[in-house]
Amino acid sequence: MSEGERAGDEANGTGDETNGTGDDGESADVGTVYLVGSGPGDPDLMTVKAARLIEAADVVLHDKLPGPEILGEIPEAKREDVGKRAGGEWTPQEYTNRRLVELAREGKSVVRLKGGDPFVFGRGGEEAEHLAAAGVPFEVVPGITSAIAGPEAAGIPVTHRDYVSSVSFVTGHEDPTKDESAVDWEALADTGGTIVVLMGVGKLPGYTAELLNHGLDPATPVALIERATWPDQRVATGTLESIVDVRDSEGIEPPAITVIGEVAGERERVVDFLEGD
Ligand code: SAH
Repeated sequence: MSEGERAGDEANGTGDETNGTGDDGESADVGTVYLVGSGPGDPDLMTVKAARLIEAADVVLHDKLPGPEILGEIPEAKREDVGKRAGGEWTPQEYTNRRLVELAREGKSVVRLKGGDPFVFGRGGEEAEHLAAAGVPFEVVPGITSAIAGPEAAGIPVTHRDYVSSVSFVTGHEDPTKDESAVDWEALADTGGTIVVLMGVGKLPGYTAELLNHGLDPATPVALIERATWPDQRVATGTLESIVDVRDSEGIEPPAITVIGEVAGERERVVDFLEGD
């Protein structure tokens, strides 16, 4: 997989930031759009509310991130995939925004199903803004984010009284060598807390180097959790210094979570008795 494809997969989005305003006429019986988090992939980790809304929905717009088990339970007839299209192209965010408004204006009950939590690196905020601007009523339904559940599934607590009292959730999708990067790796290194990176498989070499440059111990434990809670979950562990080689030798691919910090070492202490790993 190329870096470009990896980046696309990780963002699970498009790079198309155009934001249509959807001002194409309004009807009285406009339906509601539910921005729903599916949790990390195990259907048992979906909220009762999410399951109920999916059951009652006329249409479910989704990408691949909810995972095969959850998507497999939704009847084909009411699913619309707004993730990767055949040919490898991403559905533009503008299309998804427009489609949500269009379906609501047809009076449909629409679920926009997103992996994890809809407002954690999920473009849920953008969709909410778009719906509000178009006068479409919507509701946000929280989900269990992979940022916490991913490490958890591997026996890693994102905080631990003995080692850390803070945790940062960041995107690895940006190029850390670019000046305009919104992620301040130096500041993150200074916190001494746990760092959880989403969309961070492809750019792993860049940000581990940044953290080393900014003084993090090369022996700092790091874990990669691929497809957390999916039937084929995989976990790979190493240190800040070794993890890029581990990623390559294990062939870790998105979607995966990177956990950096002393807590990542906790896995070794519990893994023998960790069920479902
Ligand atoms: N809203 C989502 C995150 C979307 S960003 C959430 O709250 O979980 C996409 C990134 O999420 C992926 O690149 C990956 O880093 C992470 N991710 C989502 N589901 C995952 C899973 N089941 N296992 C590992 N990583 C996952």
